[in-house]
Amino acid sequence: MIKLSYITSYLTCPRLCYYRIHFGEMSFTEMTAAREIYFSLRQGFDLEWAKKRAESLHDSFDFETFNRVAEKFVYVDHGYKSVEIDALIKSDALNLLVSVDEVVEVGDNELPLFLSLNPPEKGVWMKDLIKAGAASLAGGFREAMFYYAYTGELRRAEVTFGVRKRVLKLMERVKLLQKGFLPERRESGYCNYCSFKEDCESKPETFASKFL
Ligand code: SF4
Repeated sequence: MIKLSYITSYLTCPRLCYYRIHFGEMSFTEMTAAREIYFSLRQGFDLEWAKKRAESLHDSFDFETFNRVAEKFVYVDHGYKSVEIDALIKSDALNLLVSVDEVVEVGDNELPLFLSLNPPEKGVWMKDLIKAGAASLAGGFREAMFYYAYTGELRRAEVTFGVRKRVLKLMERVKLLQKGFLPERRESGYCNYCSFKEDCESKPETFASKFL
C-alpha cells in the first residue's frame, strides 16, 4: 500500500522516503505536534489534553517541540462542520492510503482538509496540492481545504488534472523504492534534522539511483 506520507517524504528527499518505507519514522516533528493540537482543539479539548494525547501516542514525543509549536499555533474556528477528524481514505484499485486531517462539510460537499504550518504568499504550497491530489485519486474529491497552523488562515484549492498526474508519477517512483531501489542523496537543510543522516552518509550512490 502506498501511503500519502511516503509521497510527501519523496518530495522532501527520495532517500528519506526509502528510509521511511523500510524503517518507519521515529522523529516527533513540528507537523506531528501541530496535528495533535488541531485534533484536540477541534474536538473541544485544550492544549493540556493535546500534550497528553501526543505523549501517549508517539514513542518519540518531544516536550520541547510540542511546546514550541503550541506557542506558535493560532486556532481559529473556521466554522465548517466536521465530518471526521484524522480520517483514512483508501483506494484498493490504486493501492493508495491517504491520511486526511479532517473531512469537513462545505455546502453540499464533503472536502478533505489538510493542516500545514506557514502559508505561501498566495495560493497553497505544491506539497499541499500533492496531498489534495492524492485525496482526489483515492476519494474522488475535486477540491481541498488547507488550515495554516501558524497564521490561522484557511485556504481552498482545486485539484487539477495536472496535479493528479503528478501524484500518479510520484506513486510510480515510490513503488520502485518499495521494491528496494536506494535513490541518490538530496542534500538540503532537512539533512540537519533527518533521523537517518548517519546511515545515509555511509551509503554510496549507485548509477541507477540517479534516475529515481
Ligand atoms: S540525510 Fe539528507 S539526503 Fe540523507 S535521507 Fe536524510 S534528508 Fe535525505
